[in-house]
Amino acid sequence: MDSVESSNQRRATVTQREQWMVQDQVFQIYDIFANIPPKAQNLMLELQRDSHIEYLNKGLMQLSSSFVMPHLATTYAAVNSLITLGGRRALSSINREKLYAFLRRMKASSGAFRMHDAGEIDVRACYTAISVASILNILDDELIEDVGNYILRLLSTYEGGIAGEPGSEAHGGYTFCGLAAMILINEANRLDLAGLLDWVVFRQGVECGFQGRTNKLVDGCYSFWQGSVFALLQRLHSVNGKRVAFSDAEEGDCATDSTSEGELTDGNSSETDETCHMKQGVGHGEMEPLFHSIALQQYIILCSQEQGGGFRDKPGKARDYYHTCYCLSGLSVCQYSWSKDENSPPLPKAVLGPTRIFWNPSILYIMWS
Ligand SMILES: [Zn+2]
Repeated sequence: MDSVESSNQRRATVTQREQWMVQDQVFQIYDIFANIPPKAQNLMLELQRDSHIEYLNKGLMQLSSSFVMPHLATTYAAVNSLITLGGRRALSSINREKLYAFLRRMKASSGAFRMHDAGEIDVRACYTAISVASILNILDDELIEDVGNYILRLLSTYEGGIAGEPGSEAHGGYTFCGLAAMILINEANRLDLAGLLDWVVFRQGVECGFQGRTNKLVDGCYSFWQGSVFALLQRLHSVNGKRVAFSDAEEGDCATDSTSEGELTDGNSSETDETCHMKQGVGHGEMEPLFHSIALQQYIILCSQEQGGGFRDKPGKARDYYHTCYCLSGLSVCQYSWSKDENSPPLPKAVLGPTRIFWNPSILYIMWS
C-alpha cells in the first residue's frame, strides 16, 4: 500500500501536489478545531470585528494622493464607497454628466467596455461600467448596446461559466461580472443559466471554500465571487414572481410558472419544492442557498481570518485588503442568501456560530467523490 502511495506521489503533477498541501493545511486547522473544548471552539469561530476595523483603519493612512488616470475599477469602487457613506456631501460629489461622458468614451466598437483609455476590453469593464451607470441612474440604450451580445457570444464557455475575455476559461470573478451585468441590462435569460449553475455548484471543494476555476486551489475571495453567483441565480429564480428558466425540463414547471406570487404561496409557504430547491415564501422566495453556506463560513472564519485583523486567500498566505473585502462580502452572502429580502436580518440558522454544529469536511468529500 505504501509503495502504491509513494508511486502515486511520484507521478503527481505540480497542481496535484499543491492541492494536497493546501488540503493538509486546511484539514489540520479543522482537526485542531474539532479536538479543542467547546469554549475554545466558540472563540475560534468569532469574527474579530475590532481587529478587522483596526487593520482597515491602518490601511486608510496608506491611500495614495496621486492619480494616474481615470479607470473603471476605481470609478466603481469610489462610486460605491460614496453611496455607502451616504449623505449630501458624499453624494453631491459625484458628477453624473462627466461620469456618463467617461463611460461613453470607454465603450468599444464591439459593445464592450475598456477599463481605461487604451486599456483592456473585458467583462470586468462591462460590469463596472453598467453597474455604475445603473446605480447613478444614467444607464441608457447607448451604454447598453451590444453588451449582452459581447458577453453571450464571446465569453460564455463550454464549461458553463463566463470567461474574462474571448477564448479564456470560465472564472468565478468574471462569471459574477457577466451574470450581474446581464441582470442589470435585463438580458440574463439569454444566458445558459442551467449550464452556469452546473459549473458553479462544483466549485465548492473539500476544503469547504470555493475555487475560482476548474482544478485550481481554494481561495477566500471566491467566497464572494462564486457565492454571489448563487445569490443572483436564486434571486433571478424568484424575484417578483417572474421566473427565469434554468433548464428546458423546468419549462412549464416552477421555472417558467406564470402564476402570480400570491398563487404560488397559497397554502404552500413552507414546502420545499424538489425541482427548484427552494421554499416559496410570502413576497420574495425564501430559499436555502444552493451552496453549503455553513461550510463556507467555516472556511472563511477558521482558514482565511487572521486573529490580528484582516483576511487571507488561504492558510500560509498573507492578509491583504482585497481578500479582507471579499471574504467579508462572502460571509455576508452566506448569511443573507437565506433572507426573504434585502432588508431582513440573517436567520439564526444561516449564521455559523457557537450553536452551530461544526461541518466535517470529510463528509463533504464523501458526498462529492
Ligand atoms: Zn483570491
